[in-house]
Amino acid sequence: MEARVCVIGAGPSGITAAKNLLAEGIQNVVVYEMSDQVGGNWVFREEQSHSSVCETTHIISSKRWSQYEDFPMPDEFPDYPGHRHLKAYFQGYANHFGVTDKIKFKTRVNKAEPRDDGKWVLRVNGPDGSSEQVFDYLLVASGHHWDPRMPEYPGVFNGKVLHSHHYKKAEPFRGQRILVVGAGNSGCDVAVETARVAGKVCISMRRGQHIIPKFMFGIPSDTVYTWMLWVPKAFRQKLLQLSLWIWQGSYERYGLQKPSVGPLQMHPTLNSELLYFIRHGEIHPRRGIQRYKGRTVHFVDGTQEDFDVIIYCTGFRSSFPFLDTDVVDFRDATEVPLYRKMIHGDYPNLFFIGLFQPLGCIWPLADYQARIAARQINGKWKRPANLKDLIRKEVEHPHFNFEKHPRHATEVDYHQFRKELLAELKRAS
Ligand SMILES: Cc1cc2nc3c(=O)[nH]c(=O)nc-3n(C[C@H](O)[C@H](O)[C@H](O)COP(=O)(O)OP(=O)(O)OC[C@H]3O[C@@H](n4cnc5c(N)ncnc54)[C@H](O)[C@@H]3O)c2cc1C
Repeated sequence: MEARVCVIGAGPSGITAAKNLLAEGIQNVVVYEMSDQVGGNWVFREEQSHSSVCETTHIISSKRWSQYEDFPMPDEFPDYPGHRHLKAYFQGYANHFGVTDKIKFKTRVNKAEPRDDGKWVLRVNGPDGSSEQVFDYLLVASGHHWDPRMPEYPGVFNGKVLHSHHYKKAEPFRGQRILVVGAGNSGCDVAVETARVAGKVCISMRRGQHIIPKFMFGIPSDTVYTWMLWVPKAFRQKLLQLSLWIWQGSYERYGLQKPSVGPLQMHPTLNSELLYFIRHGEIHPRRGIQRYKGRTVHFVDGTQEDFDVIIYCTGFRSSFPFLDTDVVDFRDATEVPLYRKMIHGDYPNLFFIGLFQPLGCIWPLADYQARIAARQINGKWKRPANLKDLIRKEVEHPHFNFEKHPRHATEVDYHQFRKELLAELKRAS
């Protein structure tokens, strides 16, 4: 009997999962997608949805490094395409590889449970109502940038509070006093975008952050970084640090704290406008938050200031609400014990696709993960006998020695991870 395979999600990871299943001759595939179209996070909507992109979001990994390796982006796309281009690209990919026909849109997976015989029972709800569906294999590609991680501080803030996930455009904030919390990629984007219309924008940072421009020498910075790959990591870090210093000077010049670690020891922020906006007096750096009282925010350096709005740009939790927490619970985990960030030690027919955070783009590597899953399903790739030892080793030897934090639990070096996935595929017969 042909295996029945389910993919949850038709975002960049889900469509490449389905493509690889079909390419391996596995035709009995169903993709459940709760929205009405392909593209996941890259389907911008003004109303609240799964997507966390805003009106002006562009990718931070460049076009060269952000295309599926068998489906190049069109020549007319810019170096850093925006969400409209990306949505068209993903929908084109799904059509090209015959994936769209396999998708059941407007169908949400509410529950996925392993049965005694090992099969997965899914409770789904779609246009035809609710039903139970049984599958031999489950590929989870539901994304990990949609469930807001909200910090807590003492006191109560009386103004408006939201997370970057809920931020859609700058206009509603015209004339307001805004505090953006966090200087990651979303934080810097939101600060810059709101600064174009707001009364005043401050950005609160608990610690120094490396800010990498999107271009160096007129070339996308991730391409410049690949020129340094032949250099050993420790020296590469010094080289990158020196390049950043030549490019933009010391962070103290901008009123920012000096980062306590090198640029390869924290998830990088790619933004070419934050420093420029600071020096134009449009964004004001502030230290970490200590407490709230009414509209007043007290900072850890003893200063205080009144705001109308706080926008938390504090990242996301990796949540899978349709799976029981005894299957996986990664919401606040500092470790994600999956082999190659995809293979569960206890469930041989469960895979996670795209559940990693590269210094680079997710979907070209999700493509390789999906190929491994497809080849396991058709018997060409074998799970290692010492899988649990390998999982432990992977957790204990991350690619980067970042601070232990849930945000870093799935961090990988793009180029190293690519090599590891390709080595797995070489093992397939
Ligand atoms: C502002 C922002 C900028 C980003 N920039 C980049 C970038 O430059 N480069 C990069 O590589 N990554 C970037 N990311 C990360 C982003 O997660 C990936 O680009 C990409 O969207 C991951 O694809 P995915 O398919 O894994 O998840 P998603 O794009 O989140 O897609 C998941 C899909 O699953 C569906 N789904 C979820 N749960 C269910 C369910 N229970 N039932 C049915 N369907 C379900 C959703 O509707 C969605 O369509 C960014 C993220 C954000 C928030």
